[in-house]
Amino acid sequence: MVYSKHNIFSKLNGSDNFFIVNLLSGGADILNPAEGKMIHDYLDGKDIDREFLWDLKEKGYLVDEKEETKLYRSKYLDFIDSRDEDEVQLFFVPNYSCNFACTYCYQDEYTPAKQELTTEIIDAFFRYISHEFAGRKKYLTVFGGEPLLISPKQKELIAYLLKQANQSNLELCLVTNGYSLTGYIDILKTARIREIQVTLDGVGNVHDARRFLKGGGDTFEKIVKGIDACLGNQLSVNLRMVIDKENIDGLPEMAQFAIDKGWTKNVLFKTQLGRNYELHHCQATSEKLFSRISLYETIYQQVKQHPHILEFYKPAYSISKFLFENSSLPDPLFDACPACKTEWAFDYTGQIFSCTATVGKADESLGTFYPKVTRKEDRIASWENRDVTAIAECFNCSMQLACGGGCGSVAKNRTGDVCSTDCRPVKELLELGFSAYMEKD
Ligand code: SF4
Ligand code: SF4
Repeated sequence: MVYSKHNIFSKLNGSDNFFIVNLLSGGADILNPAEGKMIHDYLDGKDIDREFLWDLKEKGYLVDEKEETKLYRSKYLDFIDSRDEDEVQLFFVPNYSCNFACTYCYQDEYTPAKQELTTEIIDAFFRYISHEFAGRKKYLTVFGGEPLLISPKQKELIAYLLKQANQSNLELCLVTNGYSLTGYIDILKTARIREIQVTLDGVGNVHDARRFLKGGGDTFEKIVKGIDACLGNQLSVNLRMVIDKENIDGLPEMAQFAIDKGWTKNVLFKTQLGRNYELHHCQATSEKLFSRISLYETIYQQVKQHPHILEFYKPAYSISKFLFENSSLPDPLFDACPACKTEWAFDYTGQIFSCTATVGKADESLGTFYPKVTRKEDRIASWENRDVTAIAECFNCSMQLACGGGCGSVAKNRTGDVCSTDCRPVKELLELGFSAYMEKD
């Protein structure tokens, strides 16, 4: 018997207790200081209490190596099978232009093509996806730029897109800055809307200083009206707050605002926090960005001081929230990056991309659906084949089944190779998460 290479063992944040988790065996335990010491002793080659040793075997923390390899293979096959059954999310970008000039927008780097969306291109898109993803469960997400621009022509095109989605029996999500939502409600009500993602970066001035109209102009009040209009018309809203060091202190106020509006009690309302990160540029402003772990450490401290934040947003801390809410671990994550597996992106110029992180970058194009269908099969294969079994560093990493290798685009920006690592601070997140959700006082 050996100590499993999938054990994640550490101390809870601000506590004398330890935790041990194994995504392959499904074991997860909080250990008191004496038990934690026994694990350290075992790893140092010392004899430990026989009953405790037996317990470690029972829960799959001590394993027969051959048996563990067999189990790994079988769970990997289960993962691939279940991914093949998963829904595919198809992003469509009707334009990269936007009526906002957000301080951190990465799409400001792109020069939009001098081409416009037409109904012919929309038809070609639906033809391509109905052929390429025939027999797969799928849904559409309309993305930008800003898709809900208020011009009559844009309204006509979006209405046509929604009509075609209905005809293809596809549910739809929309990612919008929310400024023109009220003017689009009637059109949106014609579609099978799954959710509308809207961004607010704080209350009032905090938001307005980051997300303002091109040429200047506040946007907060109009977006709030748009969210109210959606909820009032039974359209689900996913409120996203993009966080960095400039607006993190506004999180308690944002949470209180959503609570006071009655949003957090509405079943149609959910939230997410997005970390403003260095996806494409921002070297010049990187001191205002949080690393993944420093963001969660700050949220952890804020929740201690302002527990009402949890009514607005519950941090996942890797798999901690899942474990707390389900009393069991999630399935092993052999791959965290859905690009070219359960996610694709398409734009109004007829190009095909792996996902939202690469869409619009000319050198990331994987082919075209218009004016004719072309596919760069070797590039597509490099995205399709990326998982923790294909990345050498991941294969011997004890975090692999919680991390899943991270984001292929971030990895590629770092190393030039999709099939490389984007390491997630799994152990540190679990130290916070076990302390936040599982530590009994
Ligand atoms: S490359 Fe990154 S952003 Fe794109 S699907 Fe993969 S994880 Fe998501
Ligand atoms: S990306 Fe890094 S942390 Fe994640 S599994 Fe691979 S080596 Fe481990």
